[in-house]
Amino acid sequence: MSDTIEKLKCLIIGSGPAGYTAAIYAARANMSPVLYQGIQPGGQLTTTNEVENFPGYPEGVTGPQMMMELQKQAERFETDVRDGWITKVDFSGDVHKVWVNDTKEIHCDTVIISTGASAKYLGIESEQKYLKLGGGVSACAVCDGFFYRNHEVVIVGAGDSACEEAHYLSKLCKKVTMLVRRDEFRASKIMAARVQNTENIEILFNTETEEVLGDGQVVTGVRVLNNKTKETQDIPATGFFVAIGHKPNTDIFKDFIDMDETGYIKNVPGRALTNVEGVFVCGDAADHVYRQAVTAAGTGCMAALDAERYLAAKDSSFEVSTSNYN
Ligand code: NDP
Repeated sequence: MSDTIEKLKCLIIGSGPAGYTAAIYAARANMSPVLYQGIQPGGQLTTTNEVENFPGYPEGVTGPQMMMELQKQAERFETDVRDGWITKVDFSGDVHKVWVNDTKEIHCDTVIISTGASAKYLGIESEQKYLKLGGGVSACAVCDGFFYRNHEVVIVGAGDSACEEAHYLSKLCKKVTMLVRRDEFRASKIMAARVQNTENIEILFNTETEEVLGDGQVVTGVRVLNNKTKETQDIPATGFFVAIGHKPNTDIFKDFIDMDETGYIKNVPGRALTNVEGVFVCGDAADHVYRQAVTAAGTGCMAALDAERYLAAKDSSFEVSTSNYN
């Protein structure tokens, strides 16, 4: 443990669109925010090729480019962006304590949690290879489906997300093959019925992914195994979508912050407030429904404004700025 404890007005944990937007607002409100980037600087968007649905980019923008620009914008207002991983927190007292890389201790008046969520992947080698190459593996149909217009794609998963994404893809793609590992859906009946009643979605039950096939650069198909008959088949496809759930990156907060049973942080509806005063949440760490860059950015703004008001109420010498309301 270090013997010098740093004191901050506002600490932002996480560097996706939620965290950087919170930083822009907090910095412009004279809160001198410090933002820790975490293990995946830029967050989930850095694994997306082209972002075409974020307002203000008429020609689209790559995920990494957009995150670099958000970082620059936050730094322009003097956000202190740092490398480092918050490994422990203690929100039991008036001062919120956090530890960076298990060593550096920071005491914060306000903490904004923007740690996001991570898409789950199957973890097989060929999937990871084409994911890293940006060659046709995606965990977000809304983000990437457009690039597969009139193509054939495969999607794995059987929950509400998979059904929603398969249905979304069916409107863009020639054919969607859905791989369901058991003989039934996990999704709600209405969502399952929707995919079952869509003509260009083929559902293969009891079917698992053996290998994502490709030419070394891009995906060309998927080899699947029927776990009942043990038969394999190759399905031609240019896109392989994985929709087997997300995991919010919230484990370190669980002793202090109220969460649902899957780890999503509970916020006061319509606000960024958590159950702990002075600790705010934004982005996918609290959102399993929309999960979009633009909604994350919106809640990042809300978190900073809520933090600013909290500071103003606590300390009469800290005034709510007018710049954020212009
Ligand atoms: P879920 O955890 O509900 O479903 C995950 C699915 O992925 C399951 O069908 C599971 O199979 C399958 N799966 C997991 N691991 C593998 C694997 N290795 N290989 C193949 N399949 C695998 O996650 P969702 O993201 O779908 O939903 C999360 C929450 O969000 C749910 O509460 C859901 O209801 C909600 N949601 C609601 C929506 C809405 O109402 N519009 C839209 C999207 C989500 P198995 O069933 O065999 O375990």
